[in-house]
Amino acid sequence: MEQQNYKNWHLTTDEKNILWVTFDRADSSVNSLNREVLEEFEHILNDIQQGKLKPAAMIIKSGKTNGFIAGADIQQFTKITDVNEAFDLVRKGQLVFDKLANLPITTVSMIEGFCMGGGTEMSLACKYRVAEDGNKTRIGLPEILLGIHPGWGGTVRLVQLIGPAKAMDIMLTGRALPARTAAKLGVIDAAVPKRQLERAARYYALEKPARKPLHWMSKVSNLPFMRPVLGYMLRRVVETRETPRNPLQQLNILFNRNLEIKTTPEQYPAPFAMINLWVEDGANGEKAYINEAKSVGKLLLTNTSRNLVRVFNLQDRLKSMAKNVDFKPQHVHVIGAGTMGGDIAAWCAVRGLTVTLQDREPKFLTGAIKRANKLFKDRFKLPREAQAAMDRLIPDVDGMGIAKADVIIEAIYENLEAKQALFADLEKRAKPTAILATNTSSIPLDEISTALKDPSRLVGIHFFNPVAKMQLVEVVQSDKTNKAVVDKAMAFVRKIDRLPLPVKSSPGFLVNRILMPYLNEAMIMLDEGISPTAIDRAAVEFGMPMGPIELADTVGLDVCLSVAKNLSGHFGGKIPLRLQQLVEAGKLGRKTDAGFYTYKNGRPIKPAMPKTGVNTSALADRMIGKMLDEAQKCLKEGVVADADLLDVGMIFGTGFAPFRGGPMQYLKTQQAQMPLVVETAPCCDTHEDKVKDTVA
Ligand code: NAD
Repeated sequence: MEQQNYKNWHLTTDEKNILWVTFDRADSSVNSLNREVLEEFEHILNDIQQGKLKPAAMIIKSGKTNGFIAGADIQQFTKITDVNEAFDLVRKGQLVFDKLANLPITTVSMIEGFCMGGGTEMSLACKYRVAEDGNKTRIGLPEILLGIHPGWGGTVRLVQLIGPAKAMDIMLTGRALPARTAAKLGVIDAAVPKRQLERAARYYALEKPARKPLHWMSKVSNLPFMRPVLGYMLRRVVETRETPRNPLQQLNILFNRNLEIKTTPEQYPAPFAMINLWVEDGANGEKAYINEAKSVGKLLLTNTSRNLVRVFNLQDRLKSMAKNVDFKPQHVHVIGAGTMGGDIAAWCAVRGLTVTLQDREPKFLTGAIKRANKLFKDRFKLPREAQAAMDRLIPDVDGMGIAKADVIIEAIYENLEAKQALFADLEKRAKPTAILATNTSSIPLDEISTALKDPSRLVGIHFFNPVAKMQLVEVVQSDKTNKAVVDKAMAFVRKIDRLPLPVKSSPGFLVNRILMPYLNEAMIMLDEGISPTAIDRAAVEFGMPMGPIELADTVGLDVCLSVAKNLSGHFGGKIPLRLQQLVEAGKLGRKTDAGFYTYKNGRPIKPAMPKTGVNTSALADRMIGKMLDEAQKCLKEGVVADADLLDVGMIFGTGFAPFRGGPMQYLKTQQAQMPLVVETAPCCDTHEDKVKDTVA
């Protein structure tokens, strides 16, 4: 029976007098919570409270096929400029969920698909939660990844529900839980197959089964004398490097090289604020809710949160780049089964495409197939899924796949003549609609495409190493590249769940061109006798995921040298002496267990940090300054279309400190803060230049 329809909520009552409240946001394909939606929801709750509606129970569900609730509409928070206004908005949401929690009837949240942030907090305010045990169901409180923490009662109710240890783990990492894990942890009451979901929701609504009481350990750990001790330990976990539970490792999109990470309250205040809240209030009483709202109110206005929200929005921008392009590639042919080609092929197979992989002889394919096998085993829980991926990856020395492929990616060694010969042949054999792409790092597209009858077909699809971890892919176009080909290349990149960044064909494209001067400066500082440990420490303190010296070792010193030579050939600059010496000596970094550092079990042995005479912030200024200079040049030359794309490219391509919002955003903040006359810091030969630039 239809009761009443709101703009965003539909109400029906069934024969057992259960009120089914369906959330179907009118102006959006995704359910998210904004002021209007919450006001309507509050109206429904008021009607129940005041007896205008008299259901026996209430079940909240989604009217969208793509998920339950994505969370709060973050755009509304970005417009706030005042702490009190932020507090009011957060507190308003809290009070609505309070009303829900205090209804005199049984309430159930029925979750299908994603249930994030505010959606999870709404569910936590219900008496019961049931979720579909399906691949798409994910339940989480990811606020920490946006520089805030849950603010609509989540930090209080989750601790009350499952105890502080598990609750803090979930909220500090911001990770999204599959339904079964959420049920195991007690976040939801049941994870059931789709066909039983409604039945399960009805069962909880009508039968009101008793819940198991909290484990005694959870109760003890929440006692006032325990909380300061546990709070101290939690802070240590958050601060410590290389801990799997470090919240920033959940920003795996941003920190995708298994890197050394340190969280500080100055850089990422939210995890520390959330721990403090719990230590102070123990998730107890009205005060805990009010303090939660106050804390989020403050965090929302921090630069960290503003920058992380901006990065989140920019990531969406990259995701929607090829949204309306009608290209659905099924078959990819990769030529060159080396470091890159082998991994590109394996990744495409992971993402469900049929892949043919070609190299000169079968023996060159062996390594790639072995690595692919390992990747499939790591990525897929079920052996049959790993086997299916293996079946999709077909060794193809004769290039039989060329004629059938929708996308052809060349990843042979970096040699112009070899690439030209290959593309001339490919053009004859490929389908006329197939994308012809090169993964070249340094050869201009226009030089390769001279071998093609139709040069407009060639596009660059430039992956980063390691392919399975690096989210960003540069989609490179020259003046000759057909726009439709670029669009299709971007659609392909989305199809394999990577972020396409459109860039102009110019030496180093965007990411390597900006990264290299920074690495180069670090290596020159090393030539000057500055400690590598100090250089790396300076960069990590700035917020980079790994120091540049260790990064150079990780990338491979031979690769660094060749990129440095290539870029200095175009733009000038010194090649670091020690880099050349190490490459000549065959010390190529991590892969040879020796480079700038020596390696034991894959870990660098770093000399002790000098006790005196190191100004890490000046060192960081000097290295980052080089990056900023190059970033501005790239913008002027139109290598990317705008500063936002540059920032998001550097964050996803190199892990540039996300809380600083990317190089251009950082520069803007610096310029806003910088006085016209400053003292030149020691170890910082670019500082004056920077000031000059600023004044100009
Ligand atoms: P690699 O030397 O590891 O592999 C190249 C493979 O191509 C070898 O297996 C070789 O046998 C094969 N090959 C050479 N000529 C061939 C031909 N005519 N037909 C079939 N196979 C042929 O090289 P890589 O590091 O994988 O680099 C490949 C390309 O990717 C280069 O253009 C490089 O600039 C680019 N790239 C490399 C990286 C990196 O970090 N290595 C990153 C991004 C882009």
